[in-house]
Order: sequence, then structure tokens, then C-alpha cells
Amino acid sequence: MSFKEKGILVVLSGPSGVGKGTVCRALRKRGTSLRYSISATTRRPREGEINGVHYFFKTREEFREMVRQEAFLEWAEYVGNCYGTPIDYVRQTLDKGEDVILEIEVQGALQVKKRFPEGLFIFLAPPSLQELKKRITERGTETAPLIENRMTVAKSEIELMKHYDYVVENDEVELACDRIEAIVLAEHCKVERLIEKYRKFSGVEEK
Ligand code: 5GP
Repeated sequence: MSFKEKGILVVLSGPSGVGKGTVCRALRKRGTSLRYSISATTRRPREGEINGVHYFFKTREEFREMVRQEAFLEWAEYVGNCYGTPIDYVRQTLDKGEDVILEIEVQGALQVKKRFPEGLFIFLAPPSLQELKKRITERGTETAPLIENRMTVAKSEIELMKHYDYVVENDEVELACDRIEAIVLAEHCKVERLIEKYRKFSGVEEK
């Protein structure tokens, strides 16, 4: 039987407004081999967002039903809305040997870490909290109280960095993408991922 390497589950997380979405879109544009998991959410679509492309938009009841059916790898409530990662897509893609990237907030990332410790956890950090506030404000999608709410959440989220494998500062989107690609490549070269393949290939058994 030939050895088939499983894909890597890459979890890209960090405070809201840090630019996870922008970095993910830039990675997508580069045509990397990463597959993007589309989340379900109870949030209303923003202008230009398409169901099944940006999110699967669900009612609270539909979302609850998916939770009941254990359809999520993780889910979390964030600033009044629910967000979740459908598990089937993730499983099937990893089994095909393809890498999957999740762009999720930190509570969800910590749940994934419990269920899937072999994942690759990358914390996307803002250059500073002032910069983070500027980005959320400039995005123009949130009202002032919501911005303050997101900033309070962001400050507590920085402390959660310690649970991750890598920190990537999002000073410039293209640089952040370079670092993420380098991390994923290095992960593919880890001995524990590859040793079985070489043992099979050389006929050497573990001593
Ligand atoms: P937004 O409403 O700005 O699209 O997303 C708000 C936050 O929810 C962002 O930090 C985003 O990364 C996160 N998010 C998106 N999808 C998921 C998901 O499936 N699970 C979790 N836990 N967070 C998600």
C-alpha cells in the first residue's frame, strides 16, 4: 500500500479587523494549493457578499439544527452572531491529501485545537492596537459601539496567542502571505509527517 500524506489543517486566527479576510483573499489570488473552508453564519450578508461563496447564510434555527446534528468542527458566538465550520468539507479535503485553511476567530480556533491538535495554528497579529482600530473604522461596516466592542474583544484575544504555533504580523498583506506560505511549506517537511513514507520506501522498520 502506498503512503498517502494527509492534508494539513491550517487555522488562521486572530483579532477581528486584523485582516484575516484580506490575507486569505490574497492567498487565494496567489493560487496556492490551500483549500478554503466556507463557514456558516447567522450574520446578515454585507453588501456584495454571496451565499455559498463568502458564507453560508443561515437563520438562527437552521444554525441550531446544524449544531444539533454535529455538523460543525467548531462554532462560536461572536459579537451577537454565530459562526461555524462545516466538518464534512474539512474531513473530505484533508483525506484527499489537500491542505485546508480556516479563517476563524479565536474561541473557535481553541476548540479546533482541542479536537485537532495536529493542526497548524497561526495567529495573525496587528502591528498595534491603534492600527487595528483604524482598520476596523476604515472598513466602515460597523457602528461606533460595535467598534468599541470589537476592540475590547481584541485586547483579550491577544493574550490567547500563547496557544498557537506561529505568529504572523500583518504589517503588509503580501509579506504576511509569504510568511504563511513558508510556514505551511516547513510543516510539510516535518520529520513526523514524512518518516513513515521513507520507512515504507526503504523497507526499514522502526527500531
Ligand atoms: P465577520 O462578521 O467580520 O465576517 O466575521 C467576524 C469574525 O468571525 C471574524 O473574526 C471571522 O474570522 C470569524 N469567523 C468567520 N467564520 C468563522 C467560523 O466558521 N468559526 C468561527 N469560530 N469564527 C468565524
